Amino acid sequence: MPELPELEVVCEVLQRRVVGHTLDAVNLFQPGAAIVVRDLTASRFDVAVASATIDAVSRRGKFVIFSLVKPYASVYLAINPKLTGRLQLATPADKKLPKTHLICSLSGGLELRYVDQKTMGQLYLTSDLSQVPDYAGLGPEPFDVSLDQFRERLHPYRGEIKGVLVRGEFIAGIGNAYADEILWAAKIHPYRKRTALTADEIERLYHAMQSTLRDATDKVRAEMGEAIHREPRDFLNVHMKSDEPCPRCGTPISLIGANQRITNFCRSCQPGGLIKGM
Ligand SMILES: [Zn+2]
Repeated sequence: MPELPELEVVCEVLQRRVVGHTLDAVNLFQPGAAIVVRDLTASRFDVAVASATIDAVSRRGKFVIFSLVKPYASVYLAINPKLTGRLQLATPADKKLPKTHLICSLSGGLELRYVDQKTMGQLYLTSDLSQVPDYAGLGPEPFDVSLDQFRERLHPYRGEIKGVLVRGEFIAGIGNAYADEILWAAKIHPYRKRTALTADEIERLYHAMQSTLRDATDKVRAEMGEAIHREPRDFLNVHMKSDEPCPRCGTPISLIGANQRITNFCRSCQPGGLIKGM
């Protein structure tokens, strides 16, 4: 699942490569799954966006937002890739990846494609972003909160700290993978209750959030290049590293959960917490 670091770099690449270009042709494919585009404008998606110019690309939380302008209208295409959605830059000669749902042919000759293995992502076409589900209620971006604001926002939540970090309405852009990384960096057990955290631990968590996301964005930028459909994560310290040695203390990394909901942590560096299922 792309989170803030990946989507930040995706946006940087798209700002460089597609802004100012026109969508010459828009083709939707439906490879055996429900269509991914939710058109909130009550116009036909391909008609609404054809011949529009990409005026800007930005990120908010886990959404990538394209601002599209036409002579008498402007509209947003908001993409929430969820677990399996990916944007791809390609040339017309590049082979179509399986489960390519959307191909936009751009005036510069490139193609902007949307690929989604399990059709979990959502594309919204709207003139009003506040209509997009889960968008209006997003909390601030991790770099836009002060330590005091972070404490204040955290206060109403009483449950396990990892569960709080991944809530978009608390802070936007953090998902399962980077929540594990942030908690490892802060040396806090993912299942500690928020109410059990000391003031020092909350300060550590705040700084770990910012440094982890900043460092990860730099690493993703270096490794992704313009292959924006990839998700480079070899550099992660604990997430998806079950049984590998903790980079800080050498203890084998613990795993709780299964499938897309796994939690990895170091039981030596991140002590405490009620260990579920053990
Ligand atoms: Zn450790």
